[in-house]
Amino acid sequence: MITLRSHVSGAFAAGQGTPRPLFNPTTGEAVAQTSTEGLDFGGALAFARTQGGPTLRAMTFAERGALILAISKAIHAHRDELLGLATLNGGNTRGDAKFDVDGATGTLAWYGKLGAKLGDRRYFVDGEEPTRLAANPRFVGQHVRVPRHGVAVHINAFNFPGWGFGEKAAVALLAGMPVVCKPATSTALVTARMFEILVESGVVPEGVLSLVAGPPGDLLKHMGPQDVLAFTGSSDTGSYLRTKAGLLERGVRINVEADSLNAAVLGPDLDSDSDAWHLFVRETAKDMTQKAGQKCTAIRRIFVPRDSVAEAREHLIAEIQRTRVGDPALSEVRMGPLATEQQLRDVSAGIAKLSERARFVYGDGGRGELVGVDEGGYFVGPTLLEAESVDAGVVHELEVFGPVQTILPYDGTAAQACEAIARGTGGLVSSVYSDDKAFVGDMVMGLAPYHGRLHLGHSKIAEHSPGPGTVMPQMVHGGPGRAGGGEELGGERGLDFYLQRCAVQGLKPLLAKILG
Ligand code: NAP
Repeated sequence: MITLRSHVSGAFAAGQGTPRPLFNPTTGEAVAQTSTEGLDFGGALAFARTQGGPTLRAMTFAERGALILAISKAIHAHRDELLGLATLNGGNTRGDAKFDVDGATGTLAWYGKLGAKLGDRRYFVDGEEPTRLAANPRFVGQHVRVPRHGVAVHINAFNFPGWGFGEKAAVALLAGMPVVCKPATSTALVTARMFEILVESGVVPEGVLSLVAGPPGDLLKHMGPQDVLAFTGSSDTGSYLRTKAGLLERGVRINVEADSLNAAVLGPDLDSDSDAWHLFVRETAKDMTQKAGQKCTAIRRIFVPRDSVAEAREHLIAEIQRTRVGDPALSEVRMGPLATEQQLRDVSAGIAKLSERARFVYGDGGRGELVGVDEGGYFVGPTLLEAESVDAGVVHELEVFGPVQTILPYDGTAAQACEAIARGTGGLVSSVYSDDKAFVGDMVMGLAPYHGRLHLGHSKIAEHSPGPGTVMPQMVHGGPGRAGGGEELGGERGLDFYLQRCAVQGLKPLLAKILG
């Protein structure tokens, strides 16, 4: 049995008391355990602030970028081992595991290179020239963005123990803030091993990266006004942290990445001969089965013009059927189990609720046919439902975080599709598949206020699309409303969360001297 260790105040430490087990979701067997009881989180945050913070702030963007690249390389050197752990503790197929682990190293590498581009500066000065503020031209003002003097606490969801760590840490470190990472307890094995690798590699200076490998205990109680909390998880936990955890009272800056009822819309112009139609089918089916549908960006609602429903349903089912489900360690298997027993309970209950407003057209929420698995494990087979119309109540309200999607027939107008999608009250990403400029234009203007990102599938780029589920470091990740109202990544934009913007006004030559 592996015992996970946190890394706090510059040292590895296992908690006391009865540890929590971590399971192999394919078999239901316990494979690791962890406890954070008795760890001094107040001391851990203080250590990060006083040791890691000054070290990072003394580095230029280029030096921080080099550090981030070294972190990426150190993790990548253990890729195969980490992919194995993602299968063992997360039920990931090799493809799923690569999505998580390579997603982490890829995002780190991207931000490492951005650091090199930002060069020898340590902070940002807005604009080339200061703004004149009075009749006397020597009285001017300029905005600076400097790293906060606190610690960045990162709380992650169970579905991306690798990427969740990498994508948040990359941005915070480049901005110049030390990181305390808290992965979800149930799948923390991958993150815990990444930290061992990093400490063994010796690339990370003291206090720059810390790990809470399990329950948060009183971690958040020790956060103060220079600290920031970036949370990813369910809307319920996000709301609790925002309203009841006392963080606002203490002035902690918070970013919330929560859940989302992402939509895919098939345009009325497409027929099944077009490349964009096939792209819609491929990307929608992939989002159902990749990571067993446990992606915050996965398509949940599929809007199809009423006249095309029969053919689209047939094509979607044919594509989904190609996915073999079962033991994720087998090379022929394309979809594994859900990550936890709780997930199995939640997804099963969610499917039952959806089925009150939509009929099953593929699968029925059961285990389905499995390869290499007789019994046990947290399996739900791909499940496609279909509603009578866009007026499908709970389908617009409940995120079922598994391999589950619902087809919603619409009248083919952008107006109806946009109105129905907005019933999801804010999302991370929605997709529009169409070659009709006017339709796409109307959809973009109708959907943009409700989303952090829009993915436009077009016949001319059908071979180059990574799909809506791939979060790229260049593009903003987050969304309004139920998606949490947060924003991450987006290239240089992501750094702002970790920086304080300060307007500095005074004598022009003095400002020029100080700010450079
Ligand atoms: P969750 O139950 O809300 O847990 C998320 C994280 O919050 C875990 O690390 C959990 O730790 C921690 N946590 C729970 N209660 C806490 C508290 N009182 N104080 C501090 N930390 C606390 O969500 P989940 O089941 O892991 O993730 C699934 C959800 O995440 C889905 O709804 C999905 O849509 C969403 N998600 C969103 C994104 C995005 O980028 N928007 C990405 C991935 C997932 P423990 O595990 O130790 O309890």
